[in-house]
Amino acid sequence: MDHPSPHVLLFPLPIQSPINSMLHLAELFCLAGLQVTFLNTNHNQKLLLRHTNVESRFRQYPRFRFRTISDGLPEENPRSSVQFGELISSLQAVAEPFLREILLSSSSDGVTEPPVTCVIPDGLFYYAVDIGNEIGVPVIPFDTISPCCLWVYLCIPKLIQAEEIPFKGNDLDALFENVAGMQGLLRRRDFPFYRLIDYATDPYCQIALKEVESIPRSNGLILNTFEDLDGPLLSLIRSHCQQTYAIGPLHLHLKTKLAEKRMPISASSNSLWEEDHSSIQWLDAQPIESVIYVSFGSMATLSKEEILEFWHGLVNSGIRFLWVMRSNLLRGEESNHQFVKELSEGCKERAYIVSWAPQEKVLAHSAIGGFLTHSGWNSTMESIVQGKPMICWAVYVDQRVTSRFVGEVWKIGVDMKDICDRYIIEKMVKDLMVTNRDEFKKSAEKLSNLAKESVGDGGSSYNALQCLVDDVKKLGR
Ligand code: UDP
Repeated sequence: MDHPSPHVLLFPLPIQSPINSMLHLAELFCLAGLQVTFLNTNHNQKLLLRHTNVESRFRQYPRFRFRTISDGLPEENPRSSVQFGELISSLQAVAEPFLREILLSSSSDGVTEPPVTCVIPDGLFYYAVDIGNEIGVPVIPFDTISPCCLWVYLCIPKLIQAEEIPFKGNDLDALFENVAGMQGLLRRRDFPFYRLIDYATDPYCQIALKEVESIPRSNGLILNTFEDLDGPLLSLIRSHCQQTYAIGPLHLHLKTKLAEKRMPISASSNSLWEEDHSSIQWLDAQPIESVIYVSFGSMATLSKEEILEFWHGLVNSGIRFLWVMRSNLLRGEESNHQFVKELSEGCKERAYIVSWAPQEKVLAHSAIGGFLTHSGWNSTMESIVQGKPMICWAVYVDQRVTSRFVGEVWKIGVDMKDICDRYIIEKMVKDLMVTNRDEFKKSAEKLSNLAKESVGDGGSSYNALQCLVDDVKKLGR
């Protein structure tokens, strides 16, 4: 029997950052000549097609297809962070039978395409590993969270056994003893599931546990990082999954490969919201490294009090800022339109507000000197690539561990962690942008150079991607 031609099914978590990362990976696979199917939810596919040129961009790859499924939620559901748990379980109910069907059929679309030979689901879709094993199709999860958080997840069973979780007492500065590689570093307040009361009833902790249990049963693990950033943690993660491919930073990797092949690096966007390019025009009129970019990603929300503390801290610092105020940034409110309008009236000459920005371009702009971020993993990687120091306001999950690493391990910024106060914000902004600017800039630029080396010819991520593509080609049925 002929060996089937390699055909990868990519299945991202139905939110902005994993969609970004998986589309980058999809394009890298297309460049390597693989057949690729990208499984998106109907809801996100509609948004993606409305706000991006993704359809025409991928048209140049004849072996690429989008496929869509329902996420199981009614159209009017806002799918914000509050409904995240609901979204994950309703999607699971639709995805499980879909995956079984597509993996059992002899062609992926029932007519023309070769069968799927490898599934790359988000790491959170632990059930895909079992379905693949049951049917005999290899599964290589892509964990789109930060590797430092993934390592904490992998240590959860040990923490439970050592009775370090659930936490006893209220001291959030107490250090964990049973997270190898993070002794003396990881405090309770840095734990992904903040103030964890009971791991057995916390739904997100339960999903994380199922995810880590599935890792040794998978055929490998993909991470969006590079050896010079996360080498020691990657060694620890490899004790659970030997075949761990560190192929990041993915967005830079893709740009580098396109340049290598002399293909146009189009103004590619994978945004589910409309990007406001007036932010770039505003930046064009600002002096070099004079602006701090403020964004809390696609899901995190802030209370009205927190937004006001950030606003006053930024205004009082005297530093110019560009702030992404998503329409659903204000916690518990449908829209923050009026509130944002009133705020922006107060500081027109030094502040600019948009509801969604072309973030990669913003961070690459010479007027940007720093990033006030929620420490989402994509934002962190994008900032590292551009050598921009960060102030971290982590909200939940991997952001809490990542922000600790930004401040204490990589030393490319400061971690606010839990105290949202205008005086602290003012001081940190001045510290990052003026007082200790040279020091932060030096360490951020050093990491940026290492990131670039990693995806260049012969670099660690370059080699790991080659190895992943070769392995995917070998994996048949
Ligand atoms: N992003 C963007 N424009 C914005 C805000 C965010 O394009 O105004 C992108 C950003 O470049 C990143 C992603 O959205 O790739 C956010 O991912 P991250 O992991 O940082 O945070 P999450 O949204 O998952 O919390």
